[in-house]
Amino acid sequence: MKVLVLNCGSSSIKYQFIETEIGTALAKGAVERIGMASAILTHAPRNGEKIRIVGEILDHKIAIEYVIAVLLSKNHGVIKDVNEIDAVGHRVVHGGETFSGSVLITDEVMRALKENIELAPLHNPANIKGILAAKEHMPDKPQVAVFDTAFHINMPPKAYLYGIPYTLYKKYKIRRYGFHGTSHRYVSKRAATRLGKPVEELKIITAHLGNGASMAAIKEGRSIDTSMGFTPLEGLLMGTRVGDMDPSVILYIIGKEELSIMEANTLMNKHSGLLGISGESSDMREIEEAVAEGNKRAKNAFDVFTYRIKKYIGAYTAAMGGLDALVFTGGIGENSQLVRKSVCENMEYLGIKLDDKLNETANGEAVISSEDSHVKVMRIPTNEELVIALDTEKIVNDILKGKE
Ligand code: ADP
Repeated sequence: MKVLVLNCGSSSIKYQFIETEIGTALAKGAVERIGMASAILTHAPRNGEKIRIVGEILDHKIAIEYVIAVLLSKNHGVIKDVNEIDAVGHRVVHGGETFSGSVLITDEVMRALKENIELAPLHNPANIKGILAAKEHMPDKPQVAVFDTAFHINMPPKAYLYGIPYTLYKKYKIRRYGFHGTSHRYVSKRAATRLGKPVEELKIITAHLGNGASMAAIKEGRSIDTSMGFTPLEGLLMGTRVGDMDPSVILYIIGKEELSIMEANTLMNKHSGLLGISGESSDMREIEEAVAEGNKRAKNAFDVFTYRIKKYIGAYTAAMGGLDALVFTGGIGENSQLVRKSVCENMEYLGIKLDDKLNETANGEAVISSEDSHVKVMRIPTNEELVIALDTEKIVNDILKGKE
């Protein structure tokens, strides 16, 4: 099946056109700066040359029109007819408490998505816009929603409840949801396959470390706890997000600096994290370079980042009553041998022993712990788009079977 996977943000759409049988993208690309006169479309066919087009793209509907046009284009396209797109899979950030798995998008699902807007005011409206635009261009094609939150939604109450009055949880649905669920699900399954064991028999910690970063405790194939919370702000230190912090800190800053709620939100989401501590960059590569040059604040940022991951490993090992595999993924998890090394340092008592050589040379899916390490430490590149395409295929096939 050929699935168009869309990840719609407020001013961007990332896409991959995936052939599920071979598990690869026939083409991928992005439209950025939607709403501006100089929007940019980049498109890379699997076996062709990458192109870049700059022009006015005023909304998501026009952006998707361009994506379809470039997929069909004579010189750079990968299909001859729009009907070669069998289905569309959408990444949707927040499924609230409503969705515990991927679903075919129906009118009822659209209503539920709209109800969840309040929970993700930055992301869900853009996801909805993308769905509506795709429906307009491809009204006959099945559209499927795959949620970032779904994998975590069956965590036990002891993991998802905050210590606020229960009535507020009930009234406003304030609880831990967790994000990056598609990635945590995918890499934990890949890890089990690599280890040759059913995921149902394993205790796995997954660390998705990108600009946004989160960890999950996955016991017997289910997420029982995760570090992001009501929003993606909680947990690990991130590129520009603050992560765990005494909530009073923000009240204190609001008072002292006379910030509005919006300004406080921007402070915690955009000016904190690696960038906030280092004052240099939100990008781990640049942080590592600055550390190598002896920059003390960059070193502080690096240390806070890795120390917090270490703490979560301890916490989640205790939560699961043991640990079989520790998986690193995401831009930093996959590429920074320094981060992996620092996180795993002095963890022998927990059964974690990194093999320095394997860590330095790791490529693709790889075990990077030493032979005698009780816990298998792994590098597994994530592939959220493939999961979205495969979920879409499964849902569409199930519907077709039901019609037989
Ligand atoms: P996003 O969360 O936006 O998808 P990515 O998963 O692409 O982000 O991760 C981006 C992060 O990965 C950046 O901090 C970047 O510096 C880091 N990164 C990428 N390559 C390397 C590398 N070779 N060494 C260290 N960090 C890297």
